[in-house]
Amino acid sequence: MHRCVFLDRDNTIIDNDDHLGDPSAVELFDDAADALRSLHDAGWLLVVVTNQSGVARGLFTEDDVHAVHAEIRRRLSDATGRDLIDHWYHSPWHPEGEVERFRGEHPTRKPEPGMLLEAAESHRIDLTASWMLGDQVRDIRAGQAAGCRTILLTMGGVSTMDDPQPNAIADSISAAAAVILSDGA
Ligand SMILES: [Mg+2]
Repeated sequence: MHRCVFLDRDNTIIDNDDHLGDPSAVELFDDAADALRSLHDAGWLLVVVTNQSGVARGLFTEDDVHAVHAEIRRRLSDATGRDLIDHWYHSPWHPEGEVERFRGEHPTRKPEPGMLLEAAESHRIDLTASWMLGDQVRDIRAGQAAGCRTILLTMGGVSTMDDPQPNAIADSISAAAAVILSDGA
């Protein structure tokens, strides 16, 4: 069984507050490559789980999501010489989507834990030995629902939560990686 760090994408790995369908607008956080490399080198599986309701809203297509992910992958690889992210999951759904095919609630849309559960099933991940990192309450709720430990990142402006609280709060992805690496698990 693998232990995994599940990663939100926007305001976790890349500096982005908006719906992003344009690979040329990708901006990695300065410390993202080193933080992800340190986790990868310590044996953690790295899996991105990102809500991309821009697809349901008709702002961009799933091909655009894949293009953005390819660009993030390329930037991380340029910085470290390695392919750091093991698997990529996105949820294109939204209850009020313009695109009928993706309109609705869906078990993969965070705070639902569907993407984490699907990844665990497909890649033999031990959820109770794993972590979820993200900047929104819904990221923490998804991780908790999946049985993972959680770290709230403050880059999206959220710095407190009602119970159940995250296991830790960190102001950068490198600070979050340090929490995980110092845990000794
Ligand atoms: Mg986010």
